[in-house]
Amino acid sequence: MKQTILVTGGAGYIGSHTVLELLQHNYRVVVIDKQCSFQIDHPQVTYFQCDIADSSLIKTICLRYAITGVVHCAAFIEVGASVADPARYYQNNVIKTLQLLDTLRACSIDRLVFSSSAAVYGTPEKVPIPETHPCNPISPYGKTKQMVEQILADYYTAYGMRSMSLRYFNAAGAYPEYHLGERHEPETHLIPRVLEAALNGQRCTIFGNDYPTPDGTCIRDYVHVRDIARAHRLALEYLHDNAVCNALNLGSTTGLSVLEIIDQVQEVTQRTIALDFRPRRAGDPAYLIADTRQAKTVLQWEPEYSDKKAIVSSAYAFKREPIFQNNYQNHFLRDKNWIP
Ligand code: UDP
Repeated sequence: MKQTILVTGGAGYIGSHTVLELLQHNYRVVVIDKQCSFQIDHPQVTYFQCDIADSSLIKTICLRYAITGVVHCAAFIEVGASVADPARYYQNNVIKTLQLLDTLRACSIDRLVFSSSAAVYGTPEKVPIPETHPCNPISPYGKTKQMVEQILADYYTAYGMRSMSLRYFNAAGAYPEYHLGERHEPETHLIPRVLEAALNGQRCTIFGNDYPTPDGTCIRDYVHVRDIARAHRLALEYLHDNAVCNALNLGSTTGLSVLEIIDQVQEVTQRTIALDFRPRRAGDPAYLIADTRQAKTVLQWEPEYSDKKAIVSSAYAFKREPIFQNNYQNHFLRDKNWIP
């Protein structure tokens, strides 16, 4: 048995895939999450319903389970909501992360992988985007991610806290064999929305077809959530052996337009989707494509599942899962011998 890793937001979309990846590599995992979303039934994982600012419970957990590293995924993730109510985002994503970091320091935990985002770049000056590209986030959401990256840099210099910020481009796909996938409330992301349109016979909304791209719709870099999960494990292992504070892009390096995704969904589902062209969504750049050479150099990470067919097929298989028909489980599993 390897070490025990704490995953915040480990019942969410990316967190749950990361938990599975760690379990598959013999780690023991403790999850803290505020919501009851995806729980994996495995003897080496324990779930606690807990806020990341709950310092006393987290200290108790870290000591009891001898936590040696942390993957910090817990955050609010909607760009639009962050524009409408920035206070909520700064409070949750920045202030509470600071509280978490100070709890970890008090427990002498000095290894953290942070869920960052391509949103830190804002509107790119060029694509593909390397990590050295200027960071000018245009939404409060992106700013919260940049602020935490900056805090982590200072914590490394002052306290020696090692960290790796993983800047995800468009996380997509699912792991239906383990009943894991993307399920947000409300769902704003393209692939699940197009799949819903296909399955329910609804029109699919396209936000803008007058962008300076070959078909006029936005180009994004979709990266499979299983590839993202693997990068978290590799980053933890890298931090075990190397004292660094670093940020890496995670993407597939392939740009796909909204219409190309819709075509792929039509092919996979064998259904025709009616289109509803709408004006551009505020803050959407025409192109977002990752330069991932750093992730390859540092972590020997390369996407394995991120071709568009694998992404869309897995997301479609997950949408047809019975779990999707049911409500979330309304309980959290806890260590049966110890309930604080
Ligand atoms: N998009 C769209 N219709 C939708 C949802 C998204 O046209 O119902 C577009 C969106 O404008 C963007 C791309 O699809 O250009 C990817 O959006 P998503 O919200 O999935 O991810 P983002 O790039 O915003 O992180």
